[in-house]
Amino acid sequence: MAEPIFPRLALIGIGLIGSSIAHAARRAGATSHIAISTRTPQTLKRAEELGLGQSYHLDPAEAAYGADCIIASVPVGASEAVAKAIAPALKPGAIVSDVGSVKQSVIRQMAPHLPAGVHFVPAHPVAGTEYSGPDAGFAALFDRRWCILTPPEGTDPAAVETLGKFWTALGANVETMSPNHHDLVLAITSHVPHLIAYNIVGTAADLETVTQSEVMKFSAGGFRDFTRIAASDPTMWRDVFLHNREAVLEMLGRFNEDLASLQRAIRWGDGEALFNLFTRTRAIRRGIVAAGQETAAPDFGRQPTKT
Ligand code: NAP
Repeated sequence: MAEPIFPRLALIGIGLIGSSIAHAARRAGATSHIAISTRTPQTLKRAEELGLGQSYHLDPAEAAYGADCIIASVPVGASEAVAKAIAPALKPGAIVSDVGSVKQSVIRQMAPHLPAGVHFVPAHPVAGTEYSGPDAGFAALFDRRWCILTPPEGTDPAAVETLGKFWTALGANVETMSPNHHDLVLAITSHVPHLIAYNIVGTAADLETVTQSEVMKFSAGGFRDFTRIAASDPTMWRDVFLHNREAVLEMLGRFNEDLASLQRAIRWGDGEALFNLFTRTRAIRRGIVAAGQETAAPDFGRQPTKT
């Protein structure tokens, strides 16, 4: 059998993403030892019960010691603390990475603490669900999804290539881009859509003229698709908005202008403007299906629910 890409892999944080990496790395034979560390004894115990790794450590430095690759899968705001904790244990030549949904802030938080001779290759697998914790992970999460690598300038290309091979082995398509560009792209494709979902579900929850039970009962009209996104982890998403502030505010500015022009079209009965926009957006949906990033099945492949 071929030598694993990372004989010893350390996973710091073992929630949805960390545990999915564990499952997918085992499926791929990409490592022979997974050392797991997480903040709380309860989550560590659960990871052990699920058999996600070979060794379990409350101290992140202990997990990182001797590891060929260390991946932090914690909320973005916890990145600096992880870098500080693992720094003294890192072996020369080790690759340090993460999976955070924001990249410039993670680099600002982690890079200053990492010793010379260690390669820092930040990454973001663009795949997830609305569930959290070590029970939520599964091996196929990254299959045919994109993993974006955002190496800071001057990063050793060989380290970037090795991490790219690892993510490819986990089933992902790999792309490299600058951290700044990543944060702008994700602001419009992920962060603003989540904010809109949180907002619309919050608005519906606060309405007084429409009752809560009516919101639930008639949710198949579109609302329920927002509720899936709005059920995403509150800690993770709080950190995303606090740490990608500039890019999100820029995209929200554009969004608000476009919303105002739709509002005007409705007020003035400009059906042509509405029809033209809805035609363009339908084509985007078809493009996403054609790119293999969504199912073409009616109602997103849902089976009718029994009542
Ligand atoms: P998760 O399921 O909630 O797991 C979070 C992990 O981080 C747990 O091990 C938790 O430990 C630990 N943690 C929480 N707060 C911490 C803190 N203050 N300090 C140190 N450790 C802490 O989260 P996830 O969905 O895997 O997300 C992890 C990262 O992946 C985030 O940066 C997120 O931006 C990114 N990401 C998420 C998705 C997604 O859809 N969920 C997709 C792509 C990327 P305990 O349980 O022991 O407290």
